[in-house]
Amino acid sequence: MTTPASGAGGAADLPDYAPIPRSALGPALNEQRYYVGRVERNLYWVTDGVYNSAFLATADGVVVFDAPPSIGPNLRRAVDEIAAADGVSNRVTHLVYSHHHADHAGAAALFEGDVVRIGHEETSRLLARDDDPARPVPQVTFTDTHTLDVGGERVELAWHGPNHSPDNIYIHFPGHDTLMLIDVVNAGWVPIYNVNLSDDVPGYIGAPAIALSYPWTHLISGHLGRLATRDDVTVHQQYIADIEASAREALAAVDPIPFYMAAGENAWAGVKANLDTVTERAAAPIVAKYTGVLAAADIEEFTYTTTFQIMQSLRLNTGLGVSRPVNP
Ligand SMILES: [Zn+2]
Repeated sequence: MTTPASGAGGAADLPDYAPIPRSALGPALNEQRYYVGRVERNLYWVTDGVYNSAFLATADGVVVFDAPPSIGPNLRRAVDEIAAADGVSNRVTHLVYSHHHADHAGAAALFEGDVVRIGHEETSRLLARDDDPARPVPQVTFTDTHTLDVGGERVELAWHGPNHSPDNIYIHFPGHDTLMLIDVVNAGWVPIYNVNLSDDVPGYIGAPAIALSYPWTHLISGHLGRLATRDDVTVHQQYIADIEASAREALAAVDPIPFYMAAGENAWAGVKANLDTVTERAAAPIVAKYTGVLAAADIEEFTYTTTFQIMQSLRLNTGLGVSRPVNP
């Protein structure tokens, strides 16, 4: 058995990736490994450098939006710090779930007691399914839209169909010029594997346009340690559109028949060789174009697996490049 080479910190050696553009990085963390910043007025965001969460500090209590377990008790510290500085109560009265995923909701149980948890009806169903004590089901659910009025502040929750997850919602703060949409756009970074681990590819591709249809200047996007801008959303859209165009070109250009012929009776071997060839042809120019533009674009697996998912969506949802009968 061989052991991977270890660096000074004991971690496995990583490939020599391109430097992360400074513009992709957020503010420095404090000694407790978090940063809390004002978005506008009494809306604040909290980050550990990778995950983002937010809260409204109103005269009638605090409304928390997502509770990533990686931030964990630092979210409570951030609320206490700001409430003391602003001279308002640090009592958390409401917790809003953006979606049911554990990596954004797994510290929800830190705010138990008389806190009112709010989420989409599908979030409620999925949390009941997952039966995780760290993510209690919401007491208040909604189907399409829900308006939250707390301490004179208004928050508009809306579900516009599945995207990253079946239940992922848009959280608009009209009085704070801000939108919160988690796990679609990573501010300044490429999506990770498989279209950012998303369930619905057409929904994921369409979500940024819905986000841009709202009026806002600041986007709280879930990752990676800074707020996003409308330009960030546009660059993300271009990256995805380039992948889609490249996948269309590759599906049209690569003839699957020679792969199936070579594979003989092992049909799956032919499918693999064909789809791998299409993916390689489609993804390679995207990696080249976005390295240095979006952070981590040169982690090829991210763009390759995202390209594979989009190429499969083109096949299965639009019929592009799907096998035709040999004798029609
Ligand atoms: Zn998620």
